[in-house]
Amino acid sequence: MQYHTPGSFDDAATIAAKAEGVTRFLAGGTDVLVQLRADMVTPDVLIDIKHIDGVSDIAREDGGWRIGVAVTGAEMTEHPELDKEWPGVVEAMDLIGSTQIQGRATLVGNLCNGSPAADSVPAMIAAGASVSVVGPDGSRTIKVEDVPTGPGRTSLEKGEVVSAVHLPARGDNGGDAYLRFIPRTEMDIAVVGCGVNLRLDGDRVAEARVSLGAVAPTVLLVEEAAQAVIGTTLDAAALEALSAAASAACKPINDKRGTIEFRTHVAGVLAKRAAKIAYDRAGGAK
Ligand SMILES: Cc1cc2nc3c(=O)[nH]c(=O)nc-3n(C[C@H](O)[C@H](O)[C@H](O)COP(=O)(O)OP(=O)(O)OC[C@H]3O[C@@H](n4cnc5c(N)ncnc54)[C@H](O)[C@@H]3O)c2cc1C
Repeated sequence: MQYHTPGSFDDAATIAAKAEGVTRFLAGGTDVLVQLRADMVTPDVLIDIKHIDGVSDIAREDGGWRIGVAVTGAEMTEHPELDKEWPGVVEAMDLIGSTQIQGRATLVGNLCNGSPAADSVPAMIAAGASVSVVGPDGSRTIKVEDVPTGPGRTSLEKGEVVSAVHLPARGDNGGDAYLRFIPRTEMDIAVVGCGVNLRLDGDRVAEARVSLGAVAPTVLLVEEAAQAVIGTTLDAAALEALSAAASAACKPINDKRGTIEFRTHVAGVLAKRAAKIAYDRAGGAK
């Protein structure tokens, strides 16, 4: 196995573009190293991106945030301001693993591992987050919802490396939330995850984004669920319409954690609960 420690994203992309065999980037390693130790995936080329300047920074950018690709869940939770503007994204990341995992796991690793049950991904999609990508042919920006293409797969081309996560400016009267259902109290994979992000005009929902995890081959952005609450005060009828739209979007599998029927039902329940929290956080609580 080759192990590289590039000093720039351009160098990381060049190494990845030329690499032969299985290539992995090493951020926190909480997926890569677990898969390696379990003989599930043994990389031929491992590219550690933690030696690149700025990868551990959480910085202001265009009124929003630029989050480095090595920033850990613990660093996000402990940040003095991030949680005030994007509590849903931070609480989603905070649900990942244990204290030890929190000291390593990153948003980008969670996204690029390609799990449909990845906790931070519905929250990032609801927030309208994007990622910067550096590749052999230059740089581009991709919406988070366009990154996963199936279990374990992403839209990144050979040689492309994510260089940062971008959260948009929070603006006034906005709030987000993430909830998941797991069969036990912690350290498990989401049976269903739901991120909701709302902006209010007075007490009415002016903008909404609803995202569901673990109910389809990729995390879903559910436009019909957003439309169900826009223009409403999130009253009982709106919540029922939201719930129905969320359940209707589900295309889940049966497995030992949950049946198709259970996941479909829980998606509707979580969408209502997450929307209520987001609404309260946006200032809609009376
Ligand atoms: C005990 C345990 C509990 C866990 N609990 C949860 C949980 O509750 N919820 C959950 O969602 N996950 C959970 N996970 C999975 C894992 O911790 C998360 O997916 C984590 O966010 C991965 O981040 P990482 O930095 O460790 O990624 P890594 O393992 O370093 O990388 C993961 C993948 O992302 C790719 N990658 C990393 N950085 C880049 C980059 N800059 N550009 C392109 N590709 C990149 C790698 O090539 C690899 O394919 C758990 C894992 C363990 C071991």
